[in-house]
Amino acid sequence: TREVHLASRPSGWPTAENFRLVDVELPDPEPGQVLVRNTVMSVDPYMRGRMNDVKSYVPPFQLGEPMDGGAVGEVVALGDGAEASLAVGDTVLHQAGWRAHALLPVAAVRKVDVAQVPASAHLGVLGMPGLTAYAGLTRVAGLQEDDAVLVSGAAGAVGSVAGQLAKLLGASKVVGTAGSAEKVAWLTDELGFDAAVNYKDGPVGKLLTPHAPFDVYFDNVGGDHLEAAMFHLNDNGRIAACGAIAQYNDEQPTPGPRNMMMIVSKRLTLRGFIVTDHADLAGEFYRRAGAWVAEGRLTSRETVVDGLDHAVDAFLDLMRGANTGKMLVRL
Ligand code: NDP
Repeated sequence: TREVHLASRPSGWPTAENFRLVDVELPDPEPGQVLVRNTVMSVDPYMRGRMNDVKSYVPPFQLGEPMDGGAVGEVVALGDGAEASLAVGDTVLHQAGWRAHALLPVAAVRKVDVAQVPASAHLGVLGMPGLTAYAGLTRVAGLQEDDAVLVSGAAGAVGSVAGQLAKLLGASKVVGTAGSAEKVAWLTDELGFDAAVNYKDGPVGKLLTPHAPFDVYFDNVGGDHLEAAMFHLNDNGRIAACGAIAQYNDEQPTPGPRNMMMIVSKRLTLRGFIVTDHADLAGEFYRRAGAWVAEGRLTSRETVVDGLDHAVDAFLDLMRGANTGKMLVRL
């Protein structure tokens, strides 16, 4: 089988030289193991952090080892004892992406529903990004009915779900930021955002002025977007700090927002969160979001790149904004 290894640690923007596609032999499954042929894998912004050798909420990728991340695939072989919970042909979700086949303990895979939704939905709208949006809005930001909500990175996997969920949960207004006219049109014409701005058209704070103020800001971007949001939040506004993609490839630490004093003067709450700490919401989220997807009230889009040999390109394109909705690699 083939897998993608981290060959060297990038400084700033990663390049193809930082990665290596490696051929390996996989043994047959041992007792309690399952062999999965991966069909779709996820590329996610957090993987950039794992390419650095620093301590964080997920351990760094190891040099000369396969990278990993969310993937779905089909069970092709089972070791003794594994038939109790799985059958050949089952579709499973697991964390051994970046490779064509994965050999895993049965406990490391979860069988997923593919009768109602495509397998890839478990990596996007009904998967980790969807749960991130749900937990960030409901628990971290404490979304209330009639809140006016601002979402940055709104045409991405997390942001597109966050904006739609805010509407479904009773927000009075949802405004998004994204990096192209096409993405802005998608948000307003198809996803039901009340307004959206292309942050490349000018200073994002100025672009948002006609749509302000807001009660909640779902932050995927950080930097200038966070500064602008703090400026446009009402008193007692809440910020769910989900990510800061504007700075993941920076070689030097970026200066913080210049208006931090507004946290004091407006009594703002800024709360960071990591989706894995909110796994207890997964069942509730899956039930509610699954119904909304089935009813056509929660829409998603995928940008799909073909082939493990293009997975690194897919990751880099994700960081550049080439995706609308969830960025995936079909294997
Ligand atoms: P996306 O699908 O949103 O893809 C990343 C997007 O970021 C790109 O499409 C691009 O869109 C945008 N982007 C890139 N550079 C910039 C920039 N300089 N300024 C503004 N936008 C930029 O990825 P995800 O939905 O998977 O992740 C979104 C955010 O959520 C990330 O910050 C990620 O780290 C975070 N996250 C956090 C989790 C948590 O547990 N806290 C869990 C999952 C994700 P555009 O064309 O609009 O620029």
